[in-house]
Amino acid sequence: MIIFTKRFHGVAQMQAEEIARLMAGSGAQGAGERPEDEGFMLEALAEARLAADEGEVPVGAVVVCGGEIVARAHNMTEGTKDPTAHAEMLAIRRAAEVLRGSVHRLTGCSMYVTLEPCAMCAGAVVNARLERLIIGAADPKAGACGSLRDIVRDERLNHRVPVTRGVLEEECSGVLKDFFRTRRAEKKHPKEN
Ligand SMILES: [Zn+2]
Repeated sequence: MIIFTKRFHGVAQMQAEEIARLMAGSGAQGAGERPEDEGFMLEALAEARLAADEGEVPVGAVVVCGGEIVARAHNMTEGTKDPTAHAEMLAIRRAAEVLRGSVHRLTGCSMYVTLEPCAMCAGAVVNARLERLIIGAADPKAGACGSLRDIVRDERLNHRVPVTRGVLEEECSGVLKDFFRTRRAEKKHPKEN
């Protein structure tokens, strides 16, 4: 009975901790999340899925200005043979074309991206003077917005970009996991045609 109580207490304690963590989630991971964020992240996810269909590592991004999507892009490094053709770089370039002249750089715009930007893209985010960066999945191997380093919030730079992490995190990392799982399976059992 004592053991049972202890175990039960353990489970209850874990649940309480989990609930507390989730509620505080608005603290660490979901800091700064806004009601519109999931909707725009879904649009970035749709771009990521397009990339997967093209055999590209599925990362998608959209740039939002004045509550509207002004540019969308997905990773195209394979198809273009351009190692800089990451979703964020393409989305920033397209947004700059669309907004040409109407704003200074991309001031007042936000970018939603399904995977934490790398050092190159984080640098572009700072140079674009984005107002906000919203990230789906973290990238512990190459992420430069809080994982490996934090370029966008580096105090030494003259512009810093507030970051919201973990928006639709499971869906965003899921699309990458599915992609690599399929690719591994195809390598093991190549199609016979
Ligand atoms: Zn990148």
